[in-house]
Parts: sequence; structure tokens; C-alpha cells
Amino acid sequence: MPHSFSAPRLLMNRLRQMMAAGHETRDRLDKTVQLIAGTMVADVCSIYLRTKTDELELVATEGLRREAVFSTKLAMDEGLVGQIALTAQPLAIQDAPRHPAFSYRPETGEDPYHAFLGVPILRGGRVIGVLTVQNRTERAYGEDEIESLQTIAMVLAELAVAVTDEVGDRISLRGRRAARMSGRVLCGGIGFGEIRFHDPEVPAAKFFAEDQSREISRLGKALRTLRLNVDSMVTIDSGALMGEPRDVLETYRLLAHDPAWTERLMDAVDGGLTAEAAIDRARREHRARLETATDPYIRERLYDLEDLDNRLLRILSGNETLKAEIADGDVVLVARRLGPADLLEYRESGLKGILIEDASVSSHAAIVARAMGIPTLGGLPGLTTALEGGDKVIVDAEDGALHLRPDEAVSNAYRNKVALSSEREERYAALRDEPARSLDGVDVRLMLNAGLQLDLDHLQTTGADGVGLFRTEFQFLVAESMPLLGEQVKFYHDAYERARGKPVIFRTVDLGGDKMLPNLNQEREENPALGWRSIRFALDSKGFFRRQLRALLRASTGRPLWIMFPMITVAEEFFEAKALLLDELAWSEARGHDGPSELHIGAMLETPSFGFALKEVCAEVDFISIGTNDLLQFFFAADRMTPKVADRYDLLSRPALRFLQHVAETCDTLGIPASICGEATGHPANALCLIALGYRQLSMPASSIGPVKFALRSANIADIRHTLCKQLDQGTGDLRKEVLAMFRDTHGSDAFH
Ligand code: PEP
Ligand code: MG
Repeated sequence: MPHSFSAPRLLMNRLRQMMAAGHETRDRLDKTVQLIAGTMVADVCSIYLRTKTDELELVATEGLRREAVFSTKLAMDEGLVGQIALTAQPLAIQDAPRHPAFSYRPETGEDPYHAFLGVPILRGGRVIGVLTVQNRTERAYGEDEIESLQTIAMVLAELAVAVTDEVGDRISLRGRRAARMSGRVLCGGIGFGEIRFHDPEVPAAKFFAEDQSREISRLGKALRTLRLNVDSMVTIDSGALMGEPRDVLETYRLLAHDPAWTERLMDAVDGGLTAEAAIDRARREHRARLETATDPYIRERLYDLEDLDNRLLRILSGNETLKAEIADGDVVLVARRLGPADLLEYRESGLKGILIEDASVSSHAAIVARAMGIPTLGGLPGLTTALEGGDKVIVDAEDGALHLRPDEAVSNAYRNKVALSSEREERYAALRDEPARSLDGVDVRLMLNAGLQLDLDHLQTTGADGVGLFRTEFQFLVAESMPLLGEQVKFYHDAYERARGKPVIFRTVDLGGDKMLPNLNQEREENPALGWRSIRFALDSKGFFRRQLRALLRASTGRPLWIMFPMITVAEEFFEAKALLLDELAWSEARGHDGPSELHIGAMLETPSFGFALKEVCAEVDFISIGTNDLLQFFFAADRMTPKVADRYDLLSRPALRFLQHVAETCDTLGIPASICGEATGHPANALCLIALGYRQLSMPASSIGPVKFALRSANIADIRHTLCKQLDQGTGDLRKEVLAMFRDTHGSDAFH
């Protein structure tokens, strides 16, 4: 391998001195290109930054014509520079003019240059520019030169941020200016605060190493700790579940031991970076590849790599387990991805808002955020790039808007809005002990969706009639290791205690699909939502399933047990699950344990097929509960976890409501009590339509009980039913619009804000 550039560390030192000297930003860019060209013995060095209109603008050059600076612009897919921006990968070419992607720009005077090397400038997983060097003669750039240029590009990414202030608003790195983004509401409310990143940050000031050998030894030690941790994770977790293949954890372990990863980190430190900066560089590359990768398997591996980068950074900071302590002040948490367990660690932190770049409404982080009652937005591509530590934000999780660095006028408007919504909250709180009864005397049971002990406290604050859906898998998802029988019994027992006599409907484990346990080790599935999950997984894992049933029976001794099985698709699945439960009951009783005082066995209707199997189960089932989150995804063939399609289809549409009407009528005829527990019931307009179709028990997030009760108490259900049924029979327009117009006419807009 040619080694024509052997002094990356020297260059780093010079860069460090130059950054410390405090020149103007543009001056620094000019000096940087001179420095790189000089040290790399290149005839040309240029920096292109991405503009708001997604072009690449030349902002500094050594070697090309000065007049071209701030005038030459390339489209994102134009020329070699565009190629690098598109792929987020370096490109080294011996004879550039002969390359098919080469694009000639006469104003730059680049005719005589043959050799070309360019690397992306990455920030927060996004390409924000391209750094290039060129030589007159044809030559092959070595691996070490490519590496060095990538390291320099990382430093430049930070430097380039400051350039925005000096070149007006053309460059799109991030602005110090106010900006607005739209996201999905994962938990309603409004929050103000200063942002705090969940992933460890490496400030630019920590990029350059003072003492190389110390950095090498810090990195080596951190890598050893990381590997030990990952190895013990594999050993502890393996076999906890039925000895399934251990692909997922094994792959993770292999990645942690990958010598190529270590070598790259060590090389970067060798080139003059601190251990933290070396890891940060790797993390930028992994994130950038994630932005372009479409294959789900590769994406998972890249997330694994990013996770390893983050773990390593935490080890270096001496904060191995995520210590989610937030200092005083109003803080909004910002994360690219967040697991339910991570989020739970912040529960005592008094967060004012949560922003998750990559999360959809029915993801687990969203469910935990709702349990914590913190205004949360998800589905915000580019979020982490757009923000900088110390930025202030307003999380408007009522309208799905995020205001970055808001100006005074926006802040004032929100202060007023918050005052208004606290008035509303007070109004809802005043209804706590009032009946959920419509104007024409229709009584409805409003229940809570829960999964964590923390949710159960809302039973008293909201005045809900009970827990209509207790997601028992949450105990498994947030536990460090598989909960033992005794721990499960205690968990359910606590749930009974906290419910203080109100009914709790326990839904047996709904794992698989999006709710993966690391030690479940499923084989990779093309469509996890349609795969080996929920009741399918439970019925195939009898030891595991029986243990849960036993725990539920033990905890409910002498109390009524309401239990339901998720995602029943055909009658036989229900029969099999019920038989297991009754077997367990007989087994327990034979050993002298008292059973529950009442036993109500239900099935969740979450697949369209089960809507047509009700006749077969009617003699055996005590109730059904409709899970609209899953039902709608299957009904409309739209993955609830894919933000681009998750919101595309609507419960308030003719196909969905006609199906639910069919189910309500069938259940009525067959004498099966039917309720609904998907998150969609929590919107007042949806809830009123479902009540109008005949449903008398709805289970929803705690924050929805007040608004739904408020709307119900001023509604005439018979009138709504009349209009809705007519609309379903004869209408052709947009049903949601028509229904909302009807409600606004009869209720005023306040009930449907
Ligand atoms: C549903 O699918 O609507 C449901 C309530 O279950 P989960 O959201 O836990 O899948
Ligand atoms: Mg479901």
C-alpha cells in the first residue's frame, strides 16, 4: 500500500492549533484547505457544503479558481462530488476526467487535474458536504490517506456549522435560527425546555489528543470492558428461553469482537484523535450508512454498531449503565432511537418533553412515554442533525409540531396555549367522579390501557372504571433478565393492589413482532408483524406460556381474574390457549392453591379473520376485546411500525367502521360482550363513533379519559348513530371530514380540539 501521506497526526496538530487560534470561520476554512493541500502534497483541496436547496456549493478551495467560491454549485447527484454526497462513501480515482460521473465546470479551472479523492462530511447521519483533494498527475491514493481525509472531514463538520452564520441562510447544516418540524404525536401535551441528547456527545473541543499513548490505552481498556460486558450478556441470556438459536446476540458479540472495527478505531487515534473522537467518527459513518441502507437486516446490524459505539462512549465516560440523571431545569430529551427500558430510566427525571427521531405511534417507547405522561413526538427525520446542545425547543404534542430555537412571539403564543390547556385539564379533572353518560342516557365504561405499575396510578386520578388492557409483556421487555415465576406473581399481585378493587383485564404475553426480547432470538423474518409472534409464539413456547398462566392464577387467588389472549386468528388458537389455562388451574387446585373467585376468559380480535370466526367461539369465550392497533394494520395492510404508512389509513373510514359495525352486530346476536382497546379509542371523535356503533366499553391511554368523557357527556348517541349509519350506507365523501363537521356543529370545536 503506498504510504505517501504519513503524517495525519501532524496535520491534526496543526488543525488543532489553527482552531485554537480563533480565526473567523471562513478564514479557518481557507486555512484548513491550505493546510490539507500542503500536508497531503495535493495540488487542490476544496470544501463543498450542502445548501438548503440540496445543492453542493464550493465554500473554500486551494488550487481551484477563487472566483468559483460561493458561485459553483453542483446538484446532489452531479459529478464525482455529487456521487460522494449521494452514497455517503469516499471515492478515490486515478484519472477523474475519464470517470463516467465526472462533470466539468470551466469556471473552476480544474482541467489539468487527474487524480481525485473525496470524502463525505457527515453530521448526525447526514451528508452535509464533501471534502476533496486533487493532483495533477494520475496517482492512486492510499487507504491511510482516505482515512486521514475522513478524520479531517469530521473536524470540518463541526467547523462548518459555524459557517452558516457567515454565508447567510443558503447552507443547510443547521441554523441558529428558529425552525419548525412536523412529527407524530406519541404522547399528547406541550413541553418547553433545553434539549439533552440521550446518546453520548463528543464536543469538538475533545477531538484532538494531547497524549497519544494515553488515548490508545484508554481505548484498549474500554474495548476490553465492552467485550467482557457483551460476552457476559450472551452467556446470561442464552437459554433463558427454550434454547432458541442465538443468532441475534451472537451477531452482536461478533461485531463487538470485530478486529476491523478495532483497527479503524485505533488507526483514528493513531492519526491524532482522542478515543472519544475516534468512536464518534465511526458512529458518524454508521449513521450515514443507515440513512441510505434499505435492507432490514443491514439496518439492524448498523443499529447494533451504533449501539456499540454508544456503549463504548459511555464506558469511556465512566457512566456505563445509562444513568439518566437530569440536572435541574426544564429538559427535553432527544434520541435517535429509544428502547422502553432506556426511557424508563428517565422516569424520575422530570423531563418536560421527549423527541425520538425514529419512532412510530404504536412503538414501545411511545407506550412508555404515554405511561409517563410526558409530551412526546416521534418520526422526526434529521432531528439530531438539526439540533445542537443547549438549543431550546417547544414540543407541541397536540398539533405534532416541534419548534426549534423559538423566538419570543412563538414562545408567548405557547404560554397562552398552555394556560388554555391547563384550563381544559381542570375541566376534565372536575369530571373525574361524574358518570361517563351521554345526554340521551347511554352509559359507557371508560377503562385504561396499562402495562407498567406507573400506569395504574392513573386509575385514581382519571376515575377510570378499571384496566381494559394490561400489557403483561412490558414486565418482560423492561426487565434485565427473564422474570421468574415469583417475580411475575408479585408483579400481578401489585397490579391488583394498585387497582384497589377495580377490574384489571390481563392480556397474556404479546411478544415477537416489534416487541423483541434480545434472548427471544427469533430467526430473521421478512414481515415480523405477520410472523411468529403473540399467541403463536406463546402456544409454541408452552413452558414459558404456562409459567405466565400459573403466575396469573396464583396472583388472583380469591379475586376475579379477567384474562385475554392476544391476536387470535382462528377459533382453534383460542381453544388451545383456554385449555392450557384450565389445565394450569386444575394443576394448581390439585396442589392446594385456591383459584380465582371468578374467571373471565376473553380473546382479542386483532385480525380480520377472527371477525368471521365468532360463531365458533361464542359458546366458549366470555368476552372479546378489539385491538385496533393491530387490526387496522392487518385490515389495511399497513405496517403500524413504518411511519410512512402508519398514518395513512383511518379508523374513521367506511371500510374500517363497516367492519367494526359487522363485529358489533355479530357479537350482539351471539351474545358476546365486545369492547375496544386499541389506542384509536382515545380520540373523542373515534370514541363517539364506536359508541354509536354499539360498543359500551372502551379502553384507552390515561390522558384520553377526560377528553372522551367530556365529549360523551355532551353527545346524543342516538343522533350520532342515525347520521353515522346513513353515512356508512349511502355516503361517498371523506367520512372523517363529515363526521368531524357533524361533531363541531353539535358540540362546538372545544371537545375536538
Ligand atoms: C392492539 O393491537 O390494538 C392492542 C391493543 O395491542 P398492542 O398495541 O399491545 O399490540
Ligand atoms: Mg395488538
